[in-house]
Amino acid sequence: MTDQLNELERQVEGGNLFAHSTLTEHASRINEAAAIVNGLVGLLVQRGLIEGDELLAAVDSVRERTEQAGHHAHVGIAVRVEQEVEEPEIDCEARLPICKAACCRLHFALSVEEVERGGPLRWELGHPYFNRHNADGYCHQWDDGCGIYDERPSVCRSYTCADDDRIWKDFDAMELNHEFIDSKLSGERGPIELFMDAHRRA
Ligand code: SF4
Ligand code: SF4
Repeated sequence: MTDQLNELERQVEGGNLFAHSTLTEHASRINEAAAIVNGLVGLLVQRGLIEGDELLAAVDSVRERTEQAGHHAHVGIAVRVEQEVEEPEIDCEARLPICKAACCRLHFALSVEEVERGGPLRWELGHPYFNRHNADGYCHQWDDGCGIYDERPSVCRSYTCADDDRIWKDFDAMELNHEFIDSKLSGERGPIELFMDAHRRA
């Protein structure tokens, strides 16, 4: 029971910090952008350099370019669109002593259906709607094997590490990418660290 309460507290803490971090970042960006735009428009109108229609057309054009380039601000939330997948052939059993299922330490977004079903795969409150990880950095369904193997999501069924250089430096020689795994997949970053990152970016 204590473990469950600790896990609940960890999840709630992560969820709150996620909300605080994104709100801080976006509020600062909005304030800065609003100040620049208001100042600029005021100056241009004052000097008789722009017409209203001209301005709206320019804004539409920039909006479109920003979206196409993927540079628009977002709150870091994602869901997965389900699709038909093929299961690759990979001898996990032979590799497990080396890889220690590093793939189950990666994050992926849940589908809308998985989120609404509320289980067995749950999402991380501090990272909506990505698969929940235990404090050791593994998917919460990992327990010396996938606990929902027969109903694991399509993203797990279709995954192959054969061409994933985050996992292997050399797939055939079974040389792991320890640097990436140890630095990026070794568990969670602390909530204060996450908050300060967002604050610094703002
Ligand atoms: S998919 Fe790759 S990383 Fe995952 S268990 Fe199999 S061999 Fe290991
Ligand atoms: S659902 Fe299963 S296969 Fe997919 S990441 Fe979690 S433990 Fe690994």
